[in-house]
Amino acid sequence: MKIKGYELALSEEKLDDIIEHKTRKIELVGKDFTGYQQLTEGNKKALDHLVAAAMYFTDIAEEQDHDLNVQMRHALEEKAAQNPQAAKTLKVFNMFQGLEGHNGVDIKPVELFKGLSGRKGRNFYPADLSVEEFHQIIQKMLELGKDDEVRKILSVRTFVRREGNLLKAIDYTQYFADTFSKIANELEVAAHYTTDEDFKDYLGWQAQALLQNNEDMDMLADKHWAVLQNNNQLEFTIGRESYDDELTPSIYENKKLLKLLEERGIEVNAKDTLGARVGIINKEGTDLILKFKEHMPELAKLMPFNDQYTQSVSSGGELKQTMVDADIVMLTGDYARCRGGITLAQNLPNNDKLAIKTGGGRRNVYHRQIRQSGDKERIKKLLDRLVAPEFHQYYDSEADHLFVIGHENGHSLGPDNTYQRALGNHKSTIEEHKADMVSVTFMPEYVKIGVISEEMLKKIYTTWVIKRLFLKAQPVEVHRVAELIHFNFLLAKGAFSFDTEHKVHIHFDKFHDAAYKLLAETIALQLSKSPEKAKQFIDRYTVWGKESQYIAEVQKELGIKNYIELVPHY
Ligand SMILES: [Zn+2]
Repeated sequence: MKIKGYELALSEEKLDDIIEHKTRKIELVGKDFTGYQQLTEGNKKALDHLVAAAMYFTDIAEEQDHDLNVQMRHALEEKAAQNPQAAKTLKVFNMFQGLEGHNGVDIKPVELFKGLSGRKGRNFYPADLSVEEFHQIIQKMLELGKDDEVRKILSVRTFVRREGNLLKAIDYTQYFADTFSKIANELEVAAHYTTDEDFKDYLGWQAQALLQNNEDMDMLADKHWAVLQNNNQLEFTIGRESYDDELTPSIYENKKLLKLLEERGIEVNAKDTLGARVGIINKEGTDLILKFKEHMPELAKLMPFNDQYTQSVSSGGELKQTMVDADIVMLTGDYARCRGGITLAQNLPNNDKLAIKTGGGRRNVYHRQIRQSGDKERIKKLLDRLVAPEFHQYYDSEADHLFVIGHENGHSLGPDNTYQRALGNHKSTIEEHKADMVSVTFMPEYVKIGVISEEMLKKIYTTWVIKRLFLKAQPVEVHRVAELIHFNFLLAKGAFSFDTEHKVHIHFDKFHDAAYKLLAETIALQLSKSPEKAKQFIDRYTVWGKESQYIAEVQKELGIKNYIELVPHY
C-alpha cells in the first residue's frame, strides 16, 4: 500500500498489535461532567470557543514537526474508508501527531512510512541543512554583521529558511498568519462570554499576541495567564515548549561560535512546539496543591549551595507561582502528542521566555484525567513480581501525584536558566533530573510541617521507585534518562536494594541522605556550566545494569501500553 508514493511501513499485524495490546485510552470530560454543569452560562459558551480555538493546533504542531505531516494525514484520511492498513496507520499517526514518533520503549522512533524520518531541526529548519553548515552560515552572518537576523534565527518563535547562501527567520505570527487570526477570533469571542474577569483579560492579551510579530505581546499574555488562580472556572493555555528541536542547541557544543554569539549578546534558544489545553478548574484538587506551594520559600533555604545563585523563589520573597488542578476537556498539538506519554502537569512559561526574564511568574496546571488513567490489574501483577510483600501497602497513586507536585515546584528552585542553558543538549536531562530530586529530597519537610503524614512519606518513596524508576526499556527520552540516573545512584547508596528473587526493599532510613547527595551533585553540575561534565555525569549514571534489564523484561512480559489514545467527549 502506497500513500503519496510512500509505502506504509507497518504491516496490519504490527498495527493490530499496537492498537489492540499496546494502546491505553484516556477519556476526557464532556458536557455530562458535573464540573461542566456547574459552569456559569457565560463560561459554557466561552468553552465552546476555547475548544474551537484549540482544534487549530493539530495542524500547527504537525507542520512544525515535519513538512509532510499534514498532507500525509489528509492522504491517510482519504484512504482510510477503503483500506484497513491505512485506517490503522492513521490511528497511530494521530497518537504520534506525526509520521513518526518515539513510543517510549524502542530506542529508535517508529516510522509509519518507508523512507520518511524526522529530522534534528524538525521542520523549523531546511530539510537539507546539516549541523556543520548551520554553524558555518551563522558564523558567516555574524561576520557580515547580520546580528539582528541571527538573533531571530536563534529565537524560540521562528521558522528558518534559506535565502541565497544565508538563512532567514520567519516569525510564527507570519508563518501561521491565517490560522493565528482564526484562533484569535475564537479567543475574542470566548473573552466576550466568560464571566471571569481576569480570565477575560488574559484571553484578550493572548488573542493580540497571536496577531503581532512582537515578543512583548507574548510576555504580556504570559504574565496575565500566570497570575490566574482558583477564582476562575476555566483553563486555557497555549503551550510553548522546546523539546523537539535538536539543531539550535547544537550550537552549545561549538565553543568558538557560542563565544561570538555571547559577545554580541545573542541568546541561543531551541524552537517552541505549540499546543493547546482546555479544561475546567477543579477546586478541591487545587486546594491540596496550594498547601504544597505555601512552604516553598522554606525549601529554597535548604537547597544545596544556595549561597551561590539566586532562586526564582528567594526566601522571604513572594512566590510568583500559581497552581491549579484541571479536569481536561481538550488537548491538541504538542499536548496531545503521545510519544512515550502524555504529560501529567506542566509549569509555564519556561525560563527561555521573556515573561520569566522580566520577572513574571509561572503557572502550573495539573491534568486530572491523565494521572487517573492507570491500569490497576497490571500494578498488582507488577508488585507481585518485583516488590517484597511488606512494601505492597505503600503503593498509592495519590502518592505519585504528590511527587509530581514536588517535581513541578522543583523547577522553581535551584540555579536559573543561564546555568541550565549552558549545559547545551544536556540541559533538559539535568533540569528534569534536578526537579525530580528536589521533590524527593524535600518530602520529609512536608512531614515536619504537617502537610503529609509519615505514612504518606513512605508511600511517596515506595511508589516513586516502583512507578518511576522501574523502567520499561533502556531510556532515550529526557525524563526517563533522569530516572535511570536516580535508580543507579540511589541503588548504589542503599536507598533501596534487591533480594535474591529480584524483589525490591525500600530502606526508608537511608532514603533522604542518598537523595540529598544526588541533589547536591546535580546543583554543582548546573553551577559548573560545563556540557562536558554533564555528559560525564550522565554517562556514569546511565549504565544499564542487570537489575534494570530484569525489571524491563518483567515489564515487557506484563505488557506495556505505551501508546495513548485521547478520547474527547466535548
Ligand atoms: Zn519537569
